[in-house]
Amino acid sequence: MNVTQEELEALVAECGPYTVQGQVATYIPELAKVDGGLLGIAVCNSDGTFVSAGDAETLFTVQSVSKIITLAFVLETFGEDYVFSRVGMEPTGDAFNSIAKLEETVPTKPLNPMINAGALAVTSMLPGDGAEDKFDRLRGFIADLLDIEVEMVRFDPEVARSEYETTDLNRALLYFMRHHGVIEGDVEEIIDVYTKQCAILTNCRGLAMMGKILSQSGKTPAGRQVISRRNARIIRAIMTTCGMYDASGEFAVQVGLPGKSGVSGAIVACGRSDYDMGEIGIGVFGPALDMKGNSIAGTKMLELLVQRHP
Ligand code: GLN
Repeated sequence: MNVTQEELEALVAECGPYTVQGQVATYIPELAKVDGGLLGIAVCNSDGTFVSAGDAETLFTVQSVSKIITLAFVLETFGEDYVFSRVGMEPTGDAFNSIAKLEETVPTKPLNPMINAGALAVTSMLPGDGAEDKFDRLRGFIADLLDIEVEMVRFDPEVARSEYETTDLNRALLYFMRHHGVIEGDVEEIIDVYTKQCAILTNCRGLAMMGKILSQSGKTPAGRQVISRRNARIIRAIMTTCGMYDASGEFAVQVGLPGKSGVSGAIVACGRSDYDMGEIGIGVFGPALDMKGNSIAGTKMLELLVQRHP
């Protein structure tokens, strides 16, 4: 299936007005500076061609979309048995940064890799020696996926620092998990890597490429197997059940594609599901968020796109 440029332009025009109903994230001070009126979308089609509309070239930080990349990296490096011995695969129905289920689950273990507790546990598993080496290896993994030079995988140091200085809740999750033996290592080092991974810069096209690789069972458009079929399937499944935080159920009903959002307003979606949109990848950016932290106009664009390809 191929989506056309005209379709995407119509979606941006129709959904633009929804941006005023949302708000940009402010709990990371640097993110509060972003223009909430921005809206863009890119699709990597079944035939490998890219189409895009709106603010598709604008750079933004990936935030929670990084959680699927670190998950892919640790799954590829250590295998699923090891990874899922430390983090579960069940949706929570709680906000992404909630600590509640950590205390209720016995023995304690973060319920899935898409909530902050689980993503922090995944970051703590990254291979490497110290924060710098771990982050460099992660950049290397991303460069390999996208077939680009590692120097091109950049992050926004201001956004990373802004989160590093304010992220007491994520520190609390890590200290809680370390106390219970779920993670090991230095909390500040994990926070350092985590805030940098969240601040990795991309645009809608980069997100669409990530979606495309996952929808093509781990293969790049050029046919290179960069993530195993099994791991790509695991990640798509977890995106479907947990990718949109506590709005994952509603997103599954309204959009029905595996998706992962970030508080920057980013969403990655993969065209493999009951709707069977073919092996396409979709990247969306719309920083005005709804109450649950998902792009309000971006989610609307995905809803309409899917409705138009029944
Ligand atoms: N860096 C953000 C945080 O940990 C990512 C959360 C998100 O995108 N939902 O709070």
